Amino acid sequence: VAAIPDKVATRSRRTQVEFGVWMFLAGAAVSALVVTTLLWGELRRMRAPGGPDPLRTPAYAYAWAAMPDPEFPIPPYAQYLAGVTIVVDPGHVGQRDRGGTWKRGPTGLREAEVNLRVARHLRAFLEAAGARVVLTRDEDRSLDLPDRADLLARARAARDADADLLISIHHNASKSPDANYTSVFYHSAAPQHPASLAAARHVLGGLSDALRLESHLPCGVLSDKLCFENGFAVLREANVPAILTEASFHSNPAEEQRLRDAVYNRREAYGIFLGLARWAQAGLPRIELERAEHAGVRRGQEIAVRLHDGLSQRGGWGADRWRILPDTVVVKVDGERVSATLDERRRCVRFRLPRTLRGQSCEVLVDFANVFGQHVGHPVLSIPVTP
Ligand SMILES: [Zn+2]
Repeated sequence: VAAIPDKVATRSRRTQVEFGVWMFLAGAAVSALVVTTLLWGELRRMRAPGGPDPLRTPAYAYAWAAMPDPEFPIPPYAQYLAGVTIVVDPGHVGQRDRGGTWKRGPTGLREAEVNLRVARHLRAFLEAAGARVVLTRDEDRSLDLPDRADLLARARAARDADADLLISIHHNASKSPDANYTSVFYHSAAPQHPASLAAARHVLGGLSDALRLESHLPCGVLSDKLCFENGFAVLREANVPAILTEASFHSNPAEEQRLRDAVYNRREAYGIFLGLARWAQAGLPRIELERAEHAGVRRGQEIAVRLHDGLSQRGGWGADRWRILPDTVVVKVDGERVSATLDERRRCVRFRLPRTLRGQSCEVLVDFANVFGQHVGHPVLSIPVTP
C-alpha cells in the first residue's frame, strides 16, 4: 500500500473537521427551527380568540397572576334588574371605631373604607342596569350611634325601602395571614331565608369568578349562626331577603394591597353585580292575597293566595306556563304547617284558616320555588281574623 502523502492526509483531516462543523451548524439550525415552530404555535394558541386550551391550563394558573384589563360590560340578562330595589350596606364606620387594629389590615387599611368603595361601584353598576339602589351610608364618617342602634338603622333602611334584597358589604379578617377566601352569609332563622339563600348562591358565584382567590371554602354559603348564636343583627332585623358578603380577607398582606386599588374594588363590585344580575334573571317570585281577604277572614274560611313565578310577566315563548315547582309549596298559619291544594288554572294555592286560631290577626306564610330555585322574597302576610 502506497503511503499517503502528508499533504493529502492533512487535507482529508481538514475535510473531516469542516464536515463536522457543517453537521453541527445544520443540527443547530434544525433545532432552532423546531423550537421556533413550537414557540410560535404556543404563542398563536395563547393568543387565539378562545385563549389557551382550558384542558392544558394548569390548575394553579386559576388565581390571577396578573390582572386582566379592566372591562366591565353590562350583560343582556342584567335587564331583569330594572325596577328591582336593592339596599346596599357598606359595613362599619357608623359603629364605634375601637382604634388600634380594629377592622384594619396589617398596614392599616380600614375595612370600612374598602366596603364603601365597593358599595359605590356596585351602586353604579346596578343603576346602569335600571335597579333602584339605596345606600345605608354614603360617607366615610361615623353616624355616632351606639353599635346596636347603628345596625338596626341599616336593617330599617331595607324595611323602609321594601327592598327586594339587602346586601351588606364586608371584608373578612383572620389571625392567620394566609387565610383568603370568599363567603356569603344569610340568616337561617328568617322566614325569607330560602329567598336569601338563592341570592347568596348567585353572589358567591359572581364573586368567585371575579376575584379568583387562591383558596375557597368547601361551602362558601354560610349561616350567620355559625358566628353568633342569634346571627348578624343587620340580617336578622331586615325582614327582607338579606345577605352579607365577605369577599376576601383584608388581614392577608397581599390581599390588603389589592384592596387598596380602586380598580380591584370595582372588580369585586362587578362580580357581585353579575351575581345579582343572574339572581334577577332567575325571577323574583311573589305572593298575592285576593283583595277581599285583606279586610279579614273567618276561622275555617278558605283562602286563595296567588303565586307569581317571577318569570311569566316577561312574556315570550312559554309565558303561558306556570313555572313553579309544585312540590316546594309550603303554607303555614302562625307557624303551623297546614295542608293546601294547588289550583294550576287560577295559579293559586287554597287552604283553610284553622278553627283553633286565637287572636285578632294571623300570620300566613306561603313559599315556593320557581324553576330556577328562587323563593318568595316577602312570604309572610298578616291577615285580620274576623269573629
Ligand atoms: Zn366587617
